[in-house]
Amino acid sequence: MKCLVYVETHEGKAQGGSLELLTAAAGLGEVKAVVLGSREAAEQTAAYGVDVLLAGEACCPDAATALLEHIIGEEKPQVVLMNATLAAKDLAPRLAHRLGGGCVTDAVAVEADEAHGVVFTRPAYGGTVLERLALTSAAPAFATVRSGSFAKPEQTGNGAVTEVDVAVAEDAIRARLVETVTEITEMVNLEGADIVVCGGRGMGDAQGFKLVEELADVLGGVVGATRPAIEEGWISRAHQIGQSGKMVAPKLYIACGVFGAMQHISGAMASKYIVAINKDEAASIFDVADVGIVGDVHEILPLMIEEIRKRKA
Ligand SMILES: Cc1cc2nc3c(=O)[nH]c(=O)nc-3n(C[C@H](O)[C@H](O)[C@H](O)COP(=O)(O)OP(=O)(O)OC[C@H]3O[C@@H](n4cnc5c(N)ncnc54)[C@H](O)[C@@H]3O)c2cc1C
Repeated sequence: MKCLVYVETHEGKAQGGSLELLTAAAGLGEVKAVVLGSREAAEQTAAYGVDVLLAGEACCPDAATALLEHIIGEEKPQVVLMNATLAAKDLAPRLAHRLGGGCVTDAVAVEADEAHGVVFTRPAYGGTVLERLALTSAAPAFATVRSGSFAKPEQTGNGAVTEVDVAVAEDAIRARLVETVTEITEMVNLEGADIVVCGGRGMGDAQGFKLVEELADVLGGVVGATRPAIEEGWISRAHQIGQSGKMVAPKLYIACGVFGAMQHISGAMASKYIVAINKDEAASIFDVADVGIVGDVHEILPLMIEEIRKRKA
Protein backbone atom coordinates (compact mmCIF):
# COMPACT_ATOMS: atom_id res chain seq x y z
CA MET A 1 0.00 0.00 0.00
CA LYS A 2 1.33 3.47 -0.92
CA CYS A 3 1.16 5.97 1.89
CA LEU A 4 1.98 9.69 1.75
CA VAL A 5 2.68 11.65 4.94
CA TYR A 6 2.22 15.41 4.83
CA VAL A 7 4.87 16.87 7.17
CA GLU A 8 3.78 20.25 8.46
CA THR A 9 6.39 22.80 9.41
CA HIS A 10 6.65 25.46 12.07
CA GLU A 11 9.26 28.19 11.62
CA GLY A 12 10.93 26.05 8.97
CA LYS A 13 11.19 22.91 11.14
CA ALA A 14 9.28 19.64 10.74
CA GLN A 15 6.58 19.28 13.41
CA GLY A 16 7.06 16.36 15.82
CA GLY A 17 3.43 15.24 15.48
CA SER A 18 3.86 14.93 11.70
CA LEU A 19 7.08 12.92 12.09
CA GLU A 20 5.28 10.42 14.34
CA LEU A 21 3.09 9.61 11.33
CA LEU A 22 6.10 8.04 9.64
CA THR A 23 5.75 5.27 12.25
CA ALA A 24 2.04 4.88 11.41
CA ALA A 25 2.77 4.83 7.68
CA ALA A 26 5.57 2.28 8.03
CA GLY A 27 2.98 -0.17 9.35
CA LEU A 28 0.93 0.25 6.16
CA GLY A 29 3.55 -0.21 3.44
CA GLU A 30 5.56 2.01 1.10
CA VAL A 31 6.07 5.50 2.60
CA LYS A 32 6.84 8.88 1.07
CA ALA A 33 6.61 12.30 2.70
CA VAL A 34 5.76 15.71 1.33
CA VAL A 35 6.97 19.03 2.72
CA LEU A 36 6.00 22.52 1.56
CA GLY A 37 8.52 25.33 1.46
CA SER A 38 11.29 24.25 3.84
CA ARG A 39 14.42 22.39 2.73
CA GLU A 40 15.50 22.16 6.37
CA ALA A 41 12.26 20.34 7.28
CA ALA A 42 12.56 18.10 4.20
CA GLU A 43 16.09 17.05 5.19
CA GLN A 44 15.02 16.59 8.79
CA THR A 45 12.28 14.23 7.55
CA ALA A 46 14.60 12.39 5.14
CA ALA A 47 16.87 11.56 8.12
CA TYR A 48 14.15 9.07 9.13
CA GLY A 49 14.91 7.07 5.99
CA VAL A 50 11.97 8.16 3.83
CA ASP A 51 12.04 9.85 0.44
CA VAL A 52 10.66 13.37 0.58
CA LEU A 53 8.99 15.53 -2.07
CA LEU A 54 9.71 19.19 -1.51
CA ALA A 55 7.35 21.68 -3.14
CA GLY A 56 7.29 25.48 -2.91
CA GLU A 57 6.07 27.53 0.00
CA ALA A 58 2.29 27.86 0.41
CA CYS A 59 1.29 31.43 1.19
CA CYS A 60 -2.19 30.40 2.40
CA PRO A 61 -4.50 27.36 2.75
CA ASP A 62 -5.70 27.69 -0.88
CA ALA A 63 -2.11 27.46 -2.13
CA ALA A 64 -1.34 24.48 0.13
CA THR A 65 -4.48 22.76 -1.17
CA ALA A 66 -3.47 23.37 -4.79
CA LEU A 67 0.11 22.15 -4.26
CA LEU A 68 -0.93 19.02 -2.38
CA GLU A 69 -3.76 18.28 -4.81
CA HIS A 70 -1.23 18.25 -7.65
CA ILE A 71 1.32 16.09 -5.79
CA ILE A 72 -1.24 13.58 -4.49
CA GLY A 73 -2.77 13.40 -7.99
CA GLU A 74 0.67 12.50 -9.41
CA GLU A 75 1.74 10.12 -6.64
CA LYS A 76 -1.60 8.32 -6.33
CA PRO A 77 -1.17 7.05 -2.75
CA GLN A 78 -3.91 4.91 -1.21
CA VAL A 79 -3.56 6.70 2.13
CA VAL A 80 -2.60 10.28 3.03
CA LEU A 81 -1.80 10.96 6.70
CA MET A 82 -1.67 14.40 8.33
CA ASN A 83 -1.13 15.47 11.92
CA ALA A 84 -4.48 16.63 13.36
CA THR A 85 -3.55 20.32 13.52
CA LEU A 86 -6.06 23.08 12.78
CA ALA A 87 -4.44 23.59 9.36
CA ALA A 88 -4.66 19.89 8.50
CA LYS A 89 -8.28 19.66 9.67
CA ASP A 90 -8.95 22.28 7.00
CA LEU A 91 -6.73 20.75 4.31
CA ALA A 92 -7.65 17.05 4.57
CA PRO A 93 -11.40 17.35 3.83
CA ARG A 94 -10.78 19.91 1.05
CA LEU A 95 -8.34 17.52 -0.63
CA ALA A 96 -10.57 14.50 -0.08
CA HIS A 97 -13.43 16.34 -1.77
CA ARG A 98 -11.31 17.46 -4.73
CA LEU A 99 -9.75 14.06 -5.29
CA GLY A 100 -12.95 12.10 -4.63
CA GLY A 101 -11.62 10.32 -1.54
CA GLY A 102 -12.90 9.89 2.01
CA CYS A 103 -11.64 11.58 5.14
CA VAL A 104 -11.35 10.53 8.78
CA THR A 105 -10.48 13.21 11.33
CA ASP A 106 -8.91 12.83 14.77
CA ALA A 107 -7.78 9.22 14.38
CA VAL A 108 -5.76 7.70 17.25
CA ALA A 109 -4.84 4.43 15.50
CA VAL A 110 -4.25 3.42 11.88
CA GLU A 111 -3.85 -0.24 10.97
CA ALA A 112 -3.51 -2.29 7.82
CA ASP A 113 -6.50 -4.58 7.46
CA GLU A 114 -6.85 -7.53 5.14
CA ALA A 115 -10.54 -6.99 4.38
CA HIS A 116 -10.63 -3.17 4.20
CA GLY A 117 -7.09 -2.11 3.32
CA VAL A 118 -6.79 0.28 6.24
CA VAL A 119 -8.86 0.81 9.38
CA PHE A 120 -8.82 4.04 11.41
CA THR A 121 -9.82 4.26 15.09
CA ARG A 122 -11.10 7.46 16.66
CA PRO A 123 -12.98 8.51 19.80
CA ALA A 124 -16.69 9.27 19.34
CA TYR A 125 -19.65 10.44 21.47
CA GLY A 126 -17.47 12.71 23.62
CA GLY A 127 -14.80 10.03 23.98
CA THR A 128 -17.10 7.41 25.53
CA VAL A 129 -16.50 4.92 22.69
CA LEU A 130 -13.82 4.24 20.12
CA GLU A 131 -15.12 3.73 16.60
CA ARG A 132 -13.28 1.88 13.84
CA LEU A 133 -13.75 3.20 10.34
CA ALA A 134 -12.83 1.92 6.89
CA LEU A 135 -13.26 4.04 3.76
CA THR A 136 -14.81 2.43 0.76
CA SER A 137 -13.86 4.80 -2.08
CA ALA A 138 -11.09 3.77 -4.48
CA ALA A 139 -9.50 7.24 -4.26
CA PRO A 140 -7.04 8.13 -1.45
CA ALA A 141 -8.17 7.78 2.15
CA PHE A 142 -7.25 10.97 4.03
CA ALA A 143 -6.80 10.95 7.78
CA THR A 144 -5.78 13.48 10.38
CA VAL A 145 -4.13 11.72 13.33
CA ARG A 146 -3.78 13.08 16.87
CA SER A 147 -0.25 13.85 18.08
CA GLY A 148 1.12 11.26 20.45
CA SER A 149 -0.84 8.37 18.91
CA PHE A 150 2.36 6.84 17.57
CA ALA A 151 5.90 6.66 18.92
CA LYS A 152 8.53 8.84 17.28
CA PRO A 153 10.43 6.93 14.58
CA GLU A 154 14.13 6.16 14.82
CA GLN A 155 16.53 8.09 12.59
CA THR A 156 17.53 5.24 10.30
CA GLY A 157 19.40 6.98 7.50
CA ASN A 158 18.98 9.41 4.71
CA GLY A 159 16.09 9.33 2.28
CA ALA A 160 16.26 11.43 -0.88
CA VAL A 161 14.81 14.93 -1.10
CA THR A 162 13.34 15.64 -4.54
CA GLU A 163 12.19 19.12 -5.44
CA VAL A 164 8.90 19.26 -7.33
CA ASP A 165 8.09 22.33 -9.32
CA VAL A 166 4.37 23.05 -9.08
CA ALA A 167 2.91 26.41 -10.04
CA VAL A 168 -0.19 27.64 -8.23
CA ALA A 169 -2.63 29.37 -10.56
CA GLU A 170 -3.52 32.92 -9.48
CA ASP A 171 -7.25 32.12 -9.55
CA ALA A 172 -6.71 29.17 -7.15
CA ILE A 173 -6.15 31.69 -4.35
CA ARG A 174 -9.52 32.87 -3.13
CA ALA A 175 -8.56 33.84 0.41
CA ARG A 176 -5.29 35.39 1.51
CA LEU A 177 -3.76 35.25 4.96
CA VAL A 178 -3.54 38.85 6.11
CA GLU A 179 -2.21 38.48 9.63
CA THR A 180 -1.43 35.73 12.15
CA VAL A 181 -2.16 36.54 15.78
CA THR A 182 -0.58 34.24 18.36
CA GLU A 183 -2.88 33.53 21.27
CA ILE A 184 -1.12 33.75 24.62
CA THR A 185 -1.99 30.56 26.46
CA GLU A 186 0.01 28.30 28.68
CA MET A 187 2.40 26.36 26.43
CA VAL A 188 2.80 22.78 27.61
CA ASN A 189 4.77 20.65 25.22
CA LEU A 190 3.57 17.27 26.45
CA GLU A 191 3.45 15.80 22.94
CA GLY A 192 7.13 16.53 22.29
CA ALA A 193 8.43 15.51 25.75
CA ASP A 194 10.89 12.64 26.25
CA ILE A 195 9.92 12.30 29.91
CA VAL A 196 6.42 12.79 31.32
CA VAL A 197 5.63 12.58 35.03
CA CYS A 198 1.88 12.26 35.49
CA GLY A 199 -0.04 12.78 38.72
CA GLY A 200 -3.47 11.40 39.51
CA ARG A 201 -6.04 11.71 42.27
CA GLY A 202 -3.78 9.58 44.44
CA MET A 203 -1.52 12.62 44.96
CA GLY A 204 -4.16 13.69 47.52
CA ASP A 205 -4.21 17.48 47.25
CA ALA A 206 -2.53 20.48 45.61
CA GLN A 207 0.39 20.27 48.05
CA GLY A 208 0.87 16.56 47.32
CA PHE A 209 0.74 17.25 43.57
CA LYS A 210 3.81 19.48 43.95
CA LEU A 211 5.85 16.26 44.31
CA VAL A 212 4.92 15.40 40.71
CA GLU A 213 6.17 18.82 39.58
CA GLU A 214 9.37 18.37 41.59
CA LEU A 215 10.07 14.93 40.12
CA ALA A 216 9.43 16.23 36.58
CA ASP A 217 11.75 19.13 37.31
CA VAL A 218 14.71 17.00 38.48
CA LEU A 219 14.26 14.66 35.53
CA GLY A 220 13.94 17.49 33.00
CA GLY A 221 10.47 16.22 32.11
CA VAL A 222 6.99 17.69 31.61
CA VAL A 223 4.08 17.37 34.07
CA GLY A 224 0.99 15.48 32.98
CA ALA A 225 -2.23 14.92 34.92
CA THR A 226 -5.35 12.81 34.96
CA ARG A 227 -8.76 14.44 34.65
CA PRO A 228 -9.58 14.31 38.39
CA ALA A 229 -6.30 16.12 39.23
CA ILE A 230 -7.37 18.90 36.87
CA GLU A 231 -10.94 18.98 38.12
CA GLU A 232 -9.57 19.34 41.67
CA GLY A 233 -7.74 22.46 40.43
CA TRP A 234 -4.24 21.14 41.19
CA ILE A 235 -2.99 21.98 37.68
CA SER A 236 -4.33 23.51 34.46
CA ARG A 237 -6.21 21.63 31.74
CA ALA A 238 -3.26 22.05 29.35
CA HIS A 239 -1.63 19.15 31.25
CA GLN A 240 -4.44 16.61 30.82
CA ILE A 241 -3.48 13.31 29.22
CA GLY A 242 -6.04 10.93 27.78
CA GLN A 243 -8.96 10.51 25.49
CA SER A 244 -10.27 14.02 26.11
CA GLY A 245 -6.80 15.48 26.69
CA LYS A 246 -3.45 15.07 24.96
CA MET A 247 -1.85 11.96 23.51
CA VAL A 248 1.77 11.50 24.57
CA ALA A 249 4.54 9.17 23.43
CA PRO A 250 7.58 9.89 25.65
CA LYS A 251 10.56 7.59 26.20
CA LEU A 252 9.63 7.46 29.92
CA TYR A 253 6.17 7.87 31.46
CA ILE A 254 5.91 7.87 35.26
CA ALA A 255 2.37 7.51 36.58
CA CYS A 256 1.98 8.59 40.22
CA GLY A 257 -1.26 7.79 42.03
CA VAL A 258 -2.96 7.04 38.73
CA PHE A 259 -5.47 4.18 38.50
CA GLY A 260 -4.95 3.59 34.77
CA ALA A 261 -8.51 4.01 33.44
CA MET A 262 -8.82 3.34 29.71
CA GLN A 263 -9.81 6.98 29.06
CA HIS A 264 -6.50 8.04 30.59
CA ILE A 265 -4.06 5.37 29.55
CA SER A 266 -5.21 5.40 25.91
CA GLY A 267 -3.41 8.77 25.79
CA ALA A 268 -0.11 7.31 26.99
CA MET A 269 -0.03 3.82 25.48
CA ALA A 270 2.60 4.81 22.91
CA SER A 271 5.11 5.58 25.71
CA LYS A 272 8.26 3.48 25.39
CA TYR A 273 8.67 2.71 29.11
CA ILE A 274 6.00 3.05 31.78
CA VAL A 275 6.74 3.24 35.51
CA ALA A 276 3.73 3.17 37.86
CA ILE A 277 3.52 3.98 41.55
CA ASN A 278 0.25 3.07 43.23
CA LYS A 279 -0.64 1.80 46.72
CA ASP A 280 -3.21 -0.63 45.31
CA GLU A 281 -1.56 -3.64 43.69
CA ALA A 282 -4.78 -4.36 41.76
CA ALA A 283 -4.76 -0.93 40.01
CA SER A 284 -5.11 -1.24 36.22
CA ILE A 285 -2.00 0.86 35.60
CA PHE A 286 0.11 -2.17 36.60
CA ASP A 287 -1.30 -4.11 33.61
CA VAL A 288 0.50 -1.75 31.22
CA ALA A 289 3.53 -0.75 33.34
CA ASP A 290 7.04 -1.99 32.59
CA VAL A 291 7.96 -1.37 36.23
CA GLY A 292 5.38 -1.23 39.01
CA ILE A 293 6.02 0.08 42.53
CA VAL A 294 3.35 -0.78 45.09
CA GLY A 295 3.48 1.91 47.75
CA ASP A 296 2.51 5.38 48.91
CA VAL A 297 3.44 8.19 46.50
CA HIS A 298 4.09 10.50 49.44
CA GLU A 299 6.87 8.19 50.63
CA ILE A 300 8.24 7.02 47.26
CA LEU A 301 8.39 10.29 45.30
CA PRO A 302 10.56 12.14 47.89
CA LEU A 303 12.98 9.16 47.86
CA MET A 304 13.15 9.22 44.04
CA ILE A 305 13.67 12.99 43.96
CA GLU A 306 16.43 12.82 46.57
CA GLU A 307 18.20 9.91 44.84
CA ILE A 308 18.09 11.59 41.41
CA ARG A 309 19.40 14.85 42.90
CA LYS A 310 22.29 12.95 44.53
CA ARG A 311 23.22 11.23 41.26
CA LYS A 312 23.09 14.51 39.36
CA ALA A 313 25.24 16.35 41.91
C1 LIG B 1 -15.85 10.46 28.27
C2 LIG B 1 -14.74 10.43 29.28
C3 LIG B 1 -13.53 10.95 28.94
C4 LIG B 1 -12.48 10.95 29.86
N1 LIG B 1 -11.27 11.48 29.51
C5 LIG B 1 -10.25 11.40 30.38
C6 LIG B 1 -8.95 11.88 30.03
O1 LIG B 1 -8.72 12.43 28.94
N2 LIG B 1 -7.96 11.76 30.96
C7 LIG B 1 -8.14 11.18 32.19
O2 LIG B 1 -7.19 11.08 32.96
N3 LIG B 1 -9.36 10.72 32.54
C8 LIG B 1 -10.40 10.83 31.68
N4 LIG B 1 -11.63 10.36 32.08
C9 LIG B 1 -11.79 9.90 33.48
C10 LIG B 1 -11.32 8.45 33.66
O3 LIG B 1 -12.36 7.57 33.36
C11 LIG B 1 -10.87 8.19 35.12
O4 LIG B 1 -11.93 8.53 35.97
C12 LIG B 1 -9.63 8.98 35.53
O5 LIG B 1 -8.58 8.78 34.59
C13 LIG B 1 -9.16 8.51 36.89
O6 LIG B 1 -8.12 9.36 37.32
P1 LIG B 1 -7.14 8.90 38.49
O7 LIG B 1 -6.43 7.66 38.08
O8 LIG B 1 -6.31 10.09 38.83
O9 LIG B 1 -8.12 8.71 39.72
P2 LIG B 1 -8.66 7.41 40.47
O10 LIG B 1 -9.38 6.51 39.54
O11 LIG B 1 -9.40 7.89 41.65
O12 LIG B 1 -7.34 6.64 40.92
C14 LIG B 1 -6.45 7.14 41.88
C15 LIG B 1 -5.43 6.05 42.14
O13 LIG B 1 -4.49 6.53 43.07
C16 LIG B 1 -4.17 5.50 43.97
N5 LIG B 1 -3.74 6.12 45.22
C17 LIG B 1 -4.50 6.79 46.13
N6 LIG B 1 -3.73 7.28 47.13
C18 LIG B 1 -2.46 6.88 46.85
C19 LIG B 1 -1.22 7.04 47.49
N7 LIG B 1 -1.12 7.75 48.63
N8 LIG B 1 -0.12 6.48 46.94
C20 LIG B 1 -0.21 5.74 45.80
N9 LIG B 1 -1.35 5.58 45.13
C21 LIG B 1 -2.46 6.12 45.65
C22 LIG B 1 -5.43 4.67 44.11
O14 LIG B 1 -5.11 3.34 44.50
C23 LIG B 1 -6.02 4.77 42.71
O15 LIG B 1 -5.61 3.66 41.90
C24 LIG B 1 -12.67 10.37 31.16
C25 LIG B 1 -13.92 9.82 31.46
C26 LIG B 1 -14.94 9.84 30.55
C27 LIG B 1 -16.28 9.22 30.93
